[in-house]
Amino acid sequence: MVKAVVGANWGDEGKGKITDMLAEKADIIVRFQGGANAGHTIVNNYGKFALHTLPSGVFYNHTTSIIGNGVALNIPILFNEIKSITDRNVPMPKILVSERCQMVMPYHILFDQYEEERLGGKSFGSTKSGIAPFYSDKYAKIGFQVSELFDEDLLKEKVVRICETKNVMLEHLYHKPLLVPDELLATLHEYKEMIAPYVCDVSAYLDQAIKDGKTILLEGQLGTLKDPDHGIYPMVTSSSTLAAYGAIGAGIPPYEIKQIVTVCKAYSSAVGAGAFVSEIFGDEADELRRRGGDGGEFGATTGRPRRMGWFDCVASKYGCRLQGTTDVAFTVLDVLGYLDEIPVCVGYEIDGEVTTDFPVTHRLEKAKPVLKTLPGWKCDIRGIKTYEELPENCRKYVEFIEGQIGYPITMVSNGPGRSDIIYRKSPFSK
Ligand code: GDP
Repeated sequence: MVKAVVGANWGDEGKGKITDMLAEKADIIVRFQGGANAGHTIVNNYGKFALHTLPSGVFYNHTTSIIGNGVALNIPILFNEIKSITDRNVPMPKILVSERCQMVMPYHILFDQYEEERLGGKSFGSTKSGIAPFYSDKYAKIGFQVSELFDEDLLKEKVVRICETKNVMLEHLYHKPLLVPDELLATLHEYKEMIAPYVCDVSAYLDQAIKDGKTILLEGQLGTLKDPDHGIYPMVTSSSTLAAYGAIGAGIPPYEIKQIVTVCKAYSSAVGAGAFVSEIFGDEADELRRRGGDGGEFGATTGRPRRMGWFDCVASKYGCRLQGTTDVAFTVLDVLGYLDEIPVCVGYEIDGEVTTDFPVTHRLEKAKPVLKTLPGWKCDIRGIKTYEELPENCRKYVEFIEGQIGYPITMVSNGPGRSDIIYRKSPFSK
């Protein structure tokens, strides 16, 4: 049985917590896209961790953690991350890396920085992890697959060829120091030593696992609105954030994905540039940011303060639809307990007309939020275990949003920990 855990919005919805929680009953957790440019925060019995590359299942003894072919693999970061958890007494996780996975090269990170510098005020707000240059090279067919580390002749020839191309850009566009092929080759030899014990044919491994009836979780990074096709292009990431891509980025048949858990946060937050219709500012935003998540809404990778906003039904309905949602996990609801009233964005006004359909980017930029205000519940809901015990206004908030987005909210998360979860029967479940 394959399940995907993905985001409905701009990322940071709490996918890490939901994956960590579902991993208790899973055998294998697979990262299928993205790289170390975003992070998950996980709180469990070992402490609080920010993971960027490792799947969120690494804290269990019984799970295998897989880096699928769709990931942008930064080998030194993977190694530091393994060390950072084992240094804190987490047992060494079982990790497999796809031989078809491509590697983030040191020059991808440089190119990311140089391009942001060159663009100045028109930059994309990249985290400068090399992700856009990495995926550009992958699709331009000049990327390096992990498997290529193990063919020395191929590697030598390719390093020289790639340096030639990259050096033209470095010299003439960016005016920066040139790459030296021998140095790059030496770095790749180090990468080979580091990664060798983990490399395998992941799609064959997963094929067998499916036949053996194992439970496999596909863990997405970011959310629908950052998808390069269906998101707020060009303020998107460079790999698909959709559950459908899980099949490609892990190497399994699409029809094996039986459950798609789309994570939606009870309010909105975003990092980086781009239209954000329900955004709030000033003291109102500062207070939500300070109280938000677990210890404030600041990027897990960058520490940047996140942009804050009210729940956006238009974006979330669209976000759930593109994911193919079977279940919504509605997170961080406990944080809203301080508010007397809670505004929710129920429509977008664009050129004088109200719509509930999420538009293309240039129209999105003109959208003004249509807000509806719901009463708050004014109490702490952490520790509550059943849906019926939640305050009435809190249930009304959940049910109002469920009605607006049209997808079943079957899990409500009321705290950062693994056990802070309330399961619920939804009238929207098929
Ligand atoms: P991800 O990238 O989607 O995994 O999200 P992040 O890890 O960046 O952000 C989610 C933050 O919210 C983390 O700090 C989590 O520990 C925290 N979190 C997740 N679920 C809940 C919840 O229900 N309540 C609270 N208060 N915090 C939560």
